[in-house]
Amino acid sequence: MAETKDKNGEKGEKSEESKPHVCSMCARPSDTVICLQCEAKVRGEVLEHNKDVNKAGRTDTGRR
Ligand SMILES: [Zn+2]
Repeated sequence: MAETKDKNGEKGEKSEESKPHVCSMCARPSDTVICLQCEAKVRGEVLEHNKDVNKAGRTDTGRR
């Protein structure tokens, strides 16, 4: 009886560990911490930020 209970407990723990990874941003199933869509979003935001920096540089150049 005791052995059966232990086996059930192990199964329960394993089932919890085998939970599929989900995106930390949209909580959708993903093999990585952040899914490709959210990763692209983050990259897009970074690119936009870089564009702003480039614009600022151009503006400075134009003023000079
Ligand atoms: Zn996501």
